[in-house]
Amino acid sequence: MTVAAALDTVRIAIARACKDAGRDPSEVTLVAVSKTFEADAIEPVVAAGQRVFGENRVQEAKGKWPALMAAHAGTQLHLIGPLQSNKTKEAVALFDAIHSIDRDSLCEALAKEIAAQKRDPVLFVQINTGAEPQKAGVLPEAADAFLKKCAETYRLKISGLMCIPPADEAPGPHFALTAKIARRNGLKLLSMGMSADFADAILLGATHVRVGSAIFGGR
Ligand SMILES: *Cc1c(COP(=O)(O)O)cnc(C)c1O
Repeated sequence: MTVAAALDTVRIAIARACKDAGRDPSEVTLVAVSKTFEADAIEPVVAAGQRVFGENRVQEAKGKWPALMAAHAGTQLHLIGPLQSNKTKEAVALFDAIHSIDRDSLCEALAKEIAAQKRDPVLFVQINTGAEPQKAGVLPEAADAFLKKCAETYRLKISGLMCIPPADEAPGPHFALTAKIARRNGLKLLSMGMSADFADAILLGATHVRVGSAIFGGR
């Protein structure tokens, strides 16, 4: 299957999930995750009309995206992986959205860069719904206090939450928990669902699905 055909298949599955959920497809943004793929693999996906892409490393994105973005107006880039505080300057300059906010030091660095660069990236707080020690994110029970601090201490405008469910568990409860935390904090955006489970995520309210291998193939 070509990447254009794979992209089409994903789009159709998103539309079907929206229909099943009684949701308007315009509420769901497909973030095509292009990590590990070179520009020549990304070009056909852009040519097929995809305009929102996700990368998980600042350095890798910096290497390939400025040229792609210059060549294709209207392309948006989302950072979906962990962000080190010392990379915030580059991240704020390059990305239109950051999905991985999870600690005070990062909030402080981000607030400073957003003000200095006069940029307005869409910001998500990552929730470690499975409380996995190796995974980034704020623990569910700490989420409300962290979100309050984002607003009051750092003056960061957080628009939504992101989660990555544990690989060996059914994702539904993790999506539902993330949606519940978002709802009670008045947050509208939900970044959840990957290649294997984006349809479930849409049923539970995802507004951003991050789909890599179903479009680009295995990594
Ligand atoms: C790689 C990655 C994805 C995409 O995963 P696929 O299973 O390839 O769709 C989504 N979200 C994050 C945070 C990732 O690192």
